[in-house]
Amino acid sequence: MLGSGTSHGVPAIGCDCAVCHSTDPRDRRTRPSILIELQPRDPQPLFARAVRSILVDTSTDLRAQALAQNVRRVDAILFTHSHADHVLGLDETRAFNRIQQTTIGCYASAETEADLRRTFGYIFAGPRQEGGGVPQLRLFSIAGPFTMGGAEIVPVPLFHGELPVLGFRVGRFAYLTDCSRIPEASWPLLDGVRVVILDALRESPHPTHFNLAEALDVVSRLGPERAYLTHISHDLPHEATCARLPAGVELAYDGLVLDVR
Ligand SMILES: [Zn+2]
Ligand SMILES: [Zn+2]
Ligand SMILES: [Zn+2]
Repeated sequence: MLGSGTSHGVPAIGCDCAVCHSTDPRDRRTRPSILIELQPRDPQPLFARAVRSILVDTSTDLRAQALAQNVRRVDAILFTHSHADHVLGLDETRAFNRIQQTTIGCYASAETEADLRRTFGYIFAGPRQEGGGVPQLRLFSIAGPFTMGGAEIVPVPLFHGELPVLGFRVGRFAYLTDCSRIPEASWPLLDGVRVVILDALRESPHPTHFNLAEALDVVSRLGPERAYLTHISHDLPHEATCARLPAGVELAYDGLVLDVR
């Protein structure tokens, strides 16, 4: 879990609330992103091992997250959608280009791909003047499930208000951030998921995110073994909120590591 916070991050600039001033490190939330590390199964064809480390979104805080969690390798990037908090760290991928000496494949819906090409024209259409270099990335449109590093990546269509976005399922794990509705057709894609990370912005309702009560409804319908809530605002203090959540559900926090088999 690289980042578990909402778009403003926690603490928020200029906020004097209790959570923004909390000394609990789990109340410090950077912008939403995760890293999926695939464990190679043997025997596995050599080509399948080329992808081990998959970043989901390039958050505004990507550099700080990579330093905090010692991320040294990114083989591929999946994008959920093109909102600023999920893409504005894209330039930081230069560090991985430099370390790995490879171009990094980026996978997104056709709409998100178009937004990325427009927002990052200097990367995808070329800069006017090269300074410290530009990220070496290749964009691919996601049309359905695909295989990477020997793992099947299943895009899960979700609604973020009226905006179609993607969650992702990998094996028994699903990452469903930035959503306020799971369309009926997507529920079968989540059958048998053991561990889920799900959007839960705050206590009160919001037009584009599940609030806590809605997220808990989703969890009870989904029935995973463990559920972690993310995209959390400064309304939810970590410890006090976790104390009143049902068994098997907790707030995610930056640096959380989950082992999913
Ligand atoms: Zn977001
Ligand atoms: Zn605050
Ligand atoms: Zn969003």
